[in-house]
Amino acid sequence: MIDVTGTHIWYYFICQRELWLILHQIAADQEDENLDIGRFLSENTYQRNKKEVLIGNIKVDRVRKENGKLVIGEVKKTSRYLESARYQLLYYLDVLRQMGIDATGELLFPEEKKTEVVEWSIEAKQKLDHAISEIQQIAQKPVPAEPEKIKFCNKCAYREYCWAEG
Ligand code: SF4
Repeated sequence: MIDVTGTHIWYYFICQRELWLILHQIAADQEDENLDIGRFLSENTYQRNKKEVLIGNIKVDRVRKENGKLVIGEVKKTSRYLESARYQLLYYLDVLRQMGIDATGELLFPEEKKTEVVEWSIEAKQKLDHAISEIQQIAQKPVPAEPEKIKFCNKCAYREYCWAEG
């Protein structure tokens, strides 16, 4: 069993082939500008700053209280990968819940002047658990899924690996 992280959840909802490659620590194209996945992720979130808060092993961008309830916020540059961002945050909410903390989540997209509220619910938790169990199964697979052309491929560090001719 692997320790599933928020990053795994994020990639699960983007591309399961990429998730497999990350889980198996397959090196991406050395020449690729997106090589550093951490750098890519941080380019797609806002510069981590001093407002970042560590709760257990979860790092969140913003924490505040509203009507006595904890609100944790993730600041994102684009809402293009909304489902991934939503489930990553939901995963954090679920971990907090397991620590006895009932929190609400919000995704902040300042450039788009948008905020999306993410609430823990039984249905969302079921989908999250399903994703986590599939991530565990993907980790066990000997080979990755076949590549499928998606919009994210253009940004992906593995695009040469997946799509190089010949
Ligand atoms: S290039 Fe596309 S198919 Fe290949 S791992 Fe990246 S996102 Fe997935």
